[in-house]
Amino acid sequence: MSEEIVKLIKLQDIDMDLDRLKEECESIPAEIENYRTKIDEDKNKFEENKKQTKELQLRRKEKDLELETKESEIRKHKVELNMVKTNEQYQALLKEITKAEEEKDVLENEVLVLMDNIETHSSEINKVEKTLQSEEKEINEIIRQLENKKAELEKKIQDLELERGKFASNIQAKYLKKYEHIRLGTEGVAIAPVENNSCGNCRLRLPPQVINEVTKEEDLVYCDNCSRILYLENTNKIVLRTNKKSTDKKEKNEESLPQFIGGEESPNSQT
Ligand SMILES: [Zn+2]
Repeated sequence: MSEEIVKLIKLQDIDMDLDRLKEECESIPAEIENYRTKIDEDKNKFEENKKQTKELQLRRKEKDLELETKESEIRKHKVELNMVKTNEQYQALLKEITKAEEEKDVLENEVLVLMDNIETHSSEINKVEKTLQSEEKEINEIIRQLENKKAELEKKIQDLELERGKFASNIQAKYLKKYEHIRLGTEGVAIAPVENNSCGNCRLRLPPQVINEVTKEEDLVYCDNCSRILYLENTNKIVLRTNKKSTDKKEKNEESLPQFIGGEESPNSQT
């Protein structure tokens, strides 16, 4: 019986490790997506900037054209001055010329402002383009590393799942079934130690009768409150020590396997 509990505790350690690895692995795609979004956003900003510059250049062309029209209008009026017959006509034409020249001044100012704007935008574009290139390179490298990490984690998960399968096949079906059932309905923890006469998972104070049953180790005992399988930690320390020996052969997987309580190699551990 306690032998089975020991196995369940180890199975839970493996499962918790698996949960951690899976959680880490599953978080990577979102992380990669965040980096991609960042690059996309910066690229969009850059494109938007380029678009604005093009619009400014277009407006400048229009203003240049308006300016040319205005200048030729003024020249035409000046020629006309020599041909007018009356003073009235002459004065009217002079007024026209003054008005056109004022408008020309306004246009020239507008062109100057536009030129200034275009210059600022262009230098900004050059700067952003350079930053964007190095940023993209950097982010692509980060993404590459994250993808590698994901592949490594997937391999680790695969190995540990294999190990878990092998290990679980040595547990009595009835206990394994109960363990799996509890784990499904809980947050991954199916088995909890009795600590200070309380459930190590939900901290509920356990009645002496329950502790007594746990001590007897005749059958599985559950916490009334959180339904976890209860066990006595002291007993486990002893059994886990002997249990450690039997897994020592699997040297390759030793690193990924959970550490046992007091699981240091000791020359006496076989007795
Ligand atoms: Zn409990």
